[in-house]
Amino acid sequence: MIDWHNIDTVMLDMDGTLLDLHYDNYFWLHYLPRRYAEIHKLEPDEATAKLHAVIDEHRGTLQWYCLDYWSDKLALDIRSLKEEVQHKIAIRPHVENWLARLREHDKQLLLVTNAHRKVLSLKLEITGIDQYLDEIFSSHDFQHPKEDQAFWHALQSARPFQRERTLFVDDTATVLESAKTYGIRHLLGIHQPDSQVERRLEGYPAIHHFDEVMPAPKGVTTPIS
Ligand SMILES: [Mg+2]
Repeated sequence: MIDWHNIDTVMLDMDGTLLDLHYDNYFWLHYLPRRYAEIHKLEPDEATAKLHAVIDEHRGTLQWYCLDYWSDKLALDIRSLKEEVQHKIAIRPHVENWLARLREHDKQLLLVTNAHRKVLSLKLEITGIDQYLDEIFSSHDFQHPKEDQAFWHALQSARPFQRERTLFVDDTATVLESAKTYGIRHLLGIHQPDSQVERRLEGYPAIHHFDEVMPAPKGVTTPIS
């Protein structure tokens, strides 16, 4: 499925790709509305409807991913609320073995995320996945989300890479589309980013888990099929 000989840079999304998206969905759809209602003394249903409407309005924009924006807009300390449910932050199955194997093969591993630095730091603290990564980029550093071509141009200037020798992995179709438009040659999607919600990603080669695309250990040649 993946021609590892022709890839030297692997760019990885975080939420829904390396980490279970259940934490984020649970936080934004259930926990935040509950705490918002408690803190601002609103009826729970009213708070939920209000929040879902404003959150949806900003989907796919940089603001949608911006902790400071939501902290301001909702008059809440979002980072502290995220810490209250940090026990739900989880690495997806097979991720660590897969990253360790790619390191053995000397692939350059870059985290390329729309997550805000404040939540990124919480997730790295809890999971320690940064030990496998060469560099970490948040789209907030570039003022454009991965959905925009401007993001890819800015990333290319900050850290040059060959589009035709790069694999990009992400669970969001609109982000894969953006990477494709920019000319990234190898694309891979994730079928079920939230472990609690069944989904199949259409339109891109995709996997459930990284054991499906595990390269052989270094020095072991696989038979030619
Ligand atoms: Mg994602």
